[in-house]
This record gives sequence, structure tokens and C-alpha cells, in this order.
Amino acid sequence: MPFSKLGLSPKALEGVKAAGYTEPTPIQLRAIPVVLRGADVIGSAQTGTGKTAAFVLPVLTRLETHKPFARCLVLTPTRELAAQVETAVRDYGRFTNLTATVIFGGVGYNRQTEDLRRGCDIIVATPGRLLDHMQQGNARLDRVEILILDEADRMLDMGFLPDVRRIIEKCPRQRQTMLFSATIPPEIEGLCKWALRNPETIEIGARRSPAATVTHALYPVADAQKYELLCELLKRTNFDQVLLFARTRHGADRIHQRLQREGHSVAVLHSDRTQQEREHSLNGFRNGRFEIMVATDIASRGLDVEGISHVINYDVPQHPEDYVHRIGRTGRAQAVGDAFTLMVAEDVEHVQAIERFIGQKIARMKLDNFPYLYTRAFEAVVPIRGKLVRAGSTVSTSGFGRRRRR
Ligand code: AMP
Repeated sequence: MPFSKLGLSPKALEGVKAAGYTEPTPIQLRAIPVVLRGADVIGSAQTGTGKTAAFVLPVLTRLETHKPFARCLVLTPTRELAAQVETAVRDYGRFTNLTATVIFGGVGYNRQTEDLRRGCDIIVATPGRLLDHMQQGNARLDRVEILILDEADRMLDMGFLPDVRRIIEKCPRQRQTMLFSATIPPEIEGLCKWALRNPETIEIGARRSPAATVTHALYPVADAQKYELLCELLKRTNFDQVLLFARTRHGADRIHQRLQREGHSVAVLHSDRTQQEREHSLNGFRNGRFEIMVATDIASRGLDVEGISHVINYDVPQHPEDYVHRIGRTGRAQAVGDAFTLMVAEDVEHVQAIERFIGQKIARMKLDNFPYLYTRAFEAVVPIRGKLVRAGSTVSTSGFGRRRRR
């Protein structure tokens, strides 16, 4: 079904056309009519499915024309995601006269205060800074008609739920509420019961499985050889851009420095960096100036950078669901991506938890002609290509070529 049959306003349709989209994605097909009807929604979709447009387009249609007060509020867990959603609102809404502003911490208050006082139709915000503005009397939410909680499970992980609840309490009871979350743990279920009314659940694809467009594999290695193996993987891989995840901020800085010393154009993104540094990294990575970005899980949710051909987990993620989110940063919107995860002996249990979570075994790979030291990480018996083999005996790495179809 084409976009034009979904009930979107002509101006929203022009925005879709200008974005170059020809057909709605499955979540857009399902969600747009429901949102247009004004129903509450619980949405879970795999990353890179077009979720943002699925809620932004009908919101633009419903709001119709500019009024000088906030009528739609979108809450997101990270500053980067807030900025990305606001950009999408501006892009899709460029033919409307609706106004949007983005509110997050780490930057000055002046521009935000001016925008809020002037009154924008759509506010996209992270919870902490928005609460500050509310306490200072800059932001009023008493005319909000549409509330969107994006990446709700991540907001829970980051400890934002009490702030989120405080914000919701200031919104009118009579409103449309949408909640997007990859998983629905009990706390989010509680939030849904409290904040949503007769929601429709829209679930696209298996909630727990990695995107079908991403091939992923584990690389067991001794701890002492981890960095060496990373360099070898980078050398043998024909990548466009690599997003590399480290467990800690300190670890991310260390890898960043080492890769920089070796002549890679590399950026780093984590929450200890100033907002200016974070923007410098992300913008440079987006426009292709950096070939590698080293990040913590702050970058694992929702970030949409077109050029990411490979995700490398330098450290195995602590939470199984973060594995799915991290590797979902590649293979977005039908492109194909690869994800490599380095695995040391201490990671064996975490990897098993990930495999239980995604309901599949992940192939173990070894690099040809790499001077491997022995590690317990080689010991696990895993099925590869249908038969059970010892991970250590599988030697398969030819062709790391880019497998991208656009
Ligand atoms: P999202 O899941 O919202 O982060 O979107 C992932 C990517 O898909 C973004 O780069 C969007 O620009 C792109 N996208 C969204 N909707 C469509 C569509 N209908 N056709 C093609 N690409 C789309």
C-alpha cells in the first residue's frame, strides 16, 4: 500500500516524498492508521525499521498547523537520540508550519529557554533537562495532546523512570500516549498500565532477534591478544565505517587513543565527554570524516548512521538485549551489515545469556594465520553450519568483504 492511502496530510506526504521514501515499512503500515485514529500505542519493533517516521508522520498530520504552545512531547533516553528525532521532525515536517525544539543537558539554557517561552508545537527532550526547565517555569505541558515515550526500556535502565513519571504527571490526563520499547520488563508494564489507556500493541518482527540484515559472529581470543586481534580484524575487513563498543568510558578512551596513534581517523562517544565533544564525534562520524567511532552503550539505542558497515563489540555487552541493540546499528533500512564480537574467557557466561536471549547460537570464528594463544574461550562446543564442532577447530575467515545491498 502506498503512503498516500494511509490518511496522512498532503504536507506530511510531501515530506515523505522529499525524504525519498517510496513505500511504507511494516511498522509504518501498522502504526500510522492507529496513531491517526488517536489511539494509545505500545510499539515494539526491531531497530532500523522506520519507527521514527511511524509516529512523526501521523503526529504532523494530527497537529496540522502551528499554535504557540507545546502539543506534542517526545521523551528519549539520550541526547543523541533526542537530536536525531528532532531532525526527523524537521525533515518530515518541512512543508508544514509546525515548530519543534530539542531540549537536553550539557549545553546552555538560553536557546532552549527562548524556544520554550516562545512556544513550539513539538518538544523532543531528555527527562532531566526538561524537568529543570519545568521547575524554572520555562516549560509548560498542560496543553500536551500527544505524549511519546521512545526507547522506554533504555530510560528505565538509565534510572529515568521517576523523572518520566514526574513529567507525565504534568501532562493533561486527556491525551494520546505512545510508548516504544524493545522489551517490556515489569517496570515498563507498570508504566504502561499507569500512563496508557486501552493501548493497541504493535509488534513487528521478533522482539528479541537481531535484524535479519546483519550477519554476526564471535571471535574467541585470549585477553592479552584482544587489541592485537582487533587491529587484525580491521586490517582484513573492507569496511565503510565501524562502530566499536567498549564496556567502560575509560576503556573507550584507551582504545580511541591507541587507534588514533595507529593512524585511524577515529572518534569517541561516551557520557564523560562534553556535549561539544559528543556532537563533534557524532557529526564527524555521520558525515564520514571518521571511519571508526568508539562508544559505550550510550550509542547502542536507535542511532541511525547510514555508513556503518560493521559493528565491533570489543567487549561483550553486559545485558543480553544490548547485544541486539548494538548490532542493530548496522544493517539499517535494508542495508546489510556485519557484527564481530570479541570474546575472552570471562565472557563465556555472558555470551551464553545472549544466545539464550536471542534464541540462537552465534558462530565462533578464528582468523587464519593469527598467532593465537590458548584460552578457555575456545572450549565451548557450538554448532556451526548445522553440525557440532569445537569452536577452536573452526578456521574460517576468508572474505570479510562488504556485503551491502542498497
Ligand atoms: P528508524 O528505525 O526510525 O531509526 O529509521 C531507520 C532508517 O530508515 C532511517 O534512516 C530512515 O530514514 C529510514 N526510513 C524510514 N522510513 C523509510 C521508508 N518508508 N523507506 C525507506 N527508508 C525509510
